[in-house]
Amino acid sequence: MADVLIIGDGPAGLSAALFLTKNGQNVTVFGQDGTPMHKAMLYNYLGIPEITGSEFQRVGRAQVQNLGGKIEDVEVTNAEKTDGGFAVTTADGGRREGKYLILATGTNTKLAEDLSLAKENKGIVADGDGRTSVEGLFAVGWNTRLIRTQAIISAGQGAATALEILSLEAGEDFHDFDVVE
Ligand SMILES: Cc1cc2nc3c(=O)[nH]c(=O)nc-3n(C[C@H](O)[C@H](O)[C@H](O)COP(=O)(O)OP(=O)(O)OC[C@H]3O[C@@H](n4cnc5c(N)ncnc54)[C@H](O)[C@@H]3O)c2cc1C
Repeated sequence: MADVLIIGDGPAGLSAALFLTKNGQNVTVFGQDGTPMHKAMLYNYLGIPEITGSEFQRVGRAQVQNLGGKIEDVEVTNAEKTDGGFAVTTADGGRREGKYLILATGTNTKLAEDLSLAKENKGIVADGDGRTSVEGLFAVGWNTRLIRTQAIISAGQGAATALEILSLEAGEDFHDFDVVE
């Protein structure tokens, strides 16, 4: 069983996956690299003067995988709450279980509806740490702010949710601070 299942492989899902895998969580990301980032040319991502969305995605996916995160090239067709956490079903008939579930599905909010999450014009209702009304179920990125989206905002939301999960696991506030050797 994975610690964290992440549905969606855009900046939000990959950022959450990066923080979680880097800090020892067993993470599976589901996605087929269908993000609109492939249309974008970024000049507004702090710290990176310019990069194509495709290169951003390539580097992000590699960062996650190099740290041991799994990215499964498959669509998730169903997600449900279980006694121990959550289970997802994939288009190829597979089933995976995890303690936490993060929805990072971009403009696709169908799974959130299936899970009976509240939605408003802005998108799925979630707090600043991505917490929804269901314990252990988080929503991050474009699906929580359908009217305004930027890659750096989605990545930041993914990071905030990862820190929330890491804090829950640690039983105290968690920071991912590294220092110069
Ligand atoms: C033409 C264009 C240009 C843009 N230019 C810029 C720019 O210059 N700068 C900038 O900051 N932003 C730009 N953006 C916005 C940027 O693309 C978004 O802010 C960003 O993609 C949001 O990231 P996300 O991870 O929240 O969602 P997404 O990137 O949409 O990622 C969601 C991912 O989840 C996958 N997914 C959804 N449902 C499922 C499922 N059931 N199973 C498996 N996978 C699923 C999707 O295929 C997708 O890969 C641009 C967008 C467009 C359309």
